[in-house]
Amino acid sequence: MRQNYTQTLFPTFVVGSLPRPQWVRDVIDERKHGRLSHREADRLLDPAIAFAVRLQERTGLDFVSDGEWRRESYVKVFTEAVDGFKIDAAPRPGRPSPPNPAVVSRLNQLRSIALDAAAALHSYTNRKSIVALPSPYIMGVRMWRADLSSKAYPEREDFMAACAPLIREEIGRLFAAGIDHVQIDDPELAMLVDSQNLAARGVKDAGREMALAVRMINSALEGHEGRPVSLHVCHAHFARSRASAGGYGPVMEAIGQVKVQRVAMEFAAPESQGLESLRLFPKEKILGLGVIDHCDRKVETPDQVAARAEAAMKFIEPERITLNPDCGFSPGMQNPMDLDEAYLKLSAMCRGAELLRTRHT
Ligand SMILES: [Zn+2]
Repeated sequence: MRQNYTQTLFPTFVVGSLPRPQWVRDVIDERKHGRLSHREADRLLDPAIAFAVRLQERTGLDFVSDGEWRRESYVKVFTEAVDGFKIDAAPRPGRPSPPNPAVVSRLNQLRSIALDAAAALHSYTNRKSIVALPSPYIMGVRMWRADLSSKAYPEREDFMAACAPLIREEIGRLFAAGIDHVQIDDPELAMLVDSQNLAARGVKDAGREMALAVRMINSALEGHEGRPVSLHVCHAHFARSRASAGGYGPVMEAIGQVKVQRVAMEFAAPESQGLESLRLFPKEKILGLGVIDHCDRKVETPDQVAARAEAAMKFIEPERITLNPDCGFSPGMQNPMDLDEAYLKLSAMCRGAELLRTRHT
């Protein structure tokens, strides 16, 4: 089976975000605090997105994003389009990353979540395009707080269930606009392998949580089964430090139940504890193999990238392997990462893919 995303083996994807220049972060921050309208911010950010797209094209990537340069973060993009949240009201205990918004009233969608940014991306490139949306499960984990949210949504699950149709409709809008690939982001699903994370969240039954995550993600995917959709899972990161650790074994069955074609996973990270969990990787899905450790300042060589993919070929046939970095380089704009480093790492990944194609085609 030759997978159908490109004509070549080992197609290369981003996971989504690139580190944002300071002025881009300032524009997003001014928009967040109401000092800039969405329309004016879009006008300012459009040239920045053209730059982010060109940077990705120059690395040789097959699938490019808008760098997520219109979003404060991969999850907050939802709250930038949907009313019902109090900004920065859900701190993340024990973690250095900035607080999330908390849901405080019934959701009221004001604008499309990612369509405008996707349209800009589409207009700037002839490459294949990928746009990410947060999963309803991670929205519920990160943005529902009993003290602030229960009047609007009595239980966390009620809020997740309210997010799902909005995400489902946005997926439809993205495909209708010609976007080639949609990705659902849910690091919280993979973070269920980490007992410390479970304890910090007060999760007593990891199996029940996995089933909830699968049910909510699949609810958002209703009607889109069979379309080119990925799930991205990882250990989450901030300031070059990952928020959890553990091999994917305990969540692989749940991942197999999510109705996506492709799963982009973190494997260059030591926290993933090697490739053994790929023995359990679902047989009918395409693997997005993380071959770049974005937390490590050292830029990988193309040979290292190729070697990582060849190690995975012990478990997965080459026709089911696509390449990506372990995660977005800056899933949130406050994440202090280096844009030139991201460029060099993506370039090394694409050179590694070329090496692999000469060896294995
Ligand atoms: Zn990630």
